[in-house]
Amino acid sequence: MIMLNIVIFGAPGSGKGTQSEKLIEKYGLAHISTGDVLRAEIKAGSELGKLAEGYISKGQLVPDEVIIDMLAEVLDSKKDSKGVIFDGFPRTIPQGEALDAMLKERGQLVSAVVSLDVDESELVDRLLKRGQLSGRSDDNEETIKSRLDVYKNQTSPLKEHYSKQGKLHGIPGVGQIDEIFGRITEAIDKIN
Ligand code: AMP
Repeated sequence: MIMLNIVIFGAPGSGKGTQSEKLIEKYGLAHISTGDVLRAEIKAGSELGKLAEGYISKGQLVPDEVIIDMLAEVLDSKKDSKGVIFDGFPRTIPQGEALDAMLKERGQLVSAVVSLDVDESELVDRLLKRGQLSGRSDDNEETIKSRLDVYKNQTSPLKEHYSKQGKLHGIPGVGQIDEIFGRITEAIDKIN
């Protein structure tokens, strides 16, 4: 069975988590957030958590091999779902290539990539606000700056990767949450 596999893509603070929740509800998809998996590992005090913590606190990416192995395991646990939302993965070209290969091995593919476009000053505002509310330790001014740099340098080249495959849907990520969600579902319903 072909699953609906959606990559939700965008800078930190672009609304990936918020829109993922709504997509899961509407389409009955499983959610894979690599950031959530890593935060759970940190909380559990695992070896992986200890390794990840150093990178996350500096706003750097956890190394590709670590993330790719972790993803393969999580992916197998979702194989009976209607599809998966990938939230916060892939974040580098090697991760994107690994995802394509992992899905292919399982007879699946990325159905669509939804890219939430938000300008940088708005991202900084949102992340600082989130830091005050959630207390997420990496939502502080210095770490935010490095996460945005990492996004620009290491993650945004994936847009070209998916655009070449004809899968990239650029969505303006500003306005009301439901309005943004409407733009996303319009794009997904066209391919679905
Ligand atoms: P997020 O919750 O998606 O913003 O992720 C928080 C932090 O976890 C990131 O700043 C990275 O340090 C780490 N992280 C999450 N996903 C990945 C990934 N796919 N590759 C590398 N690091 C990741």
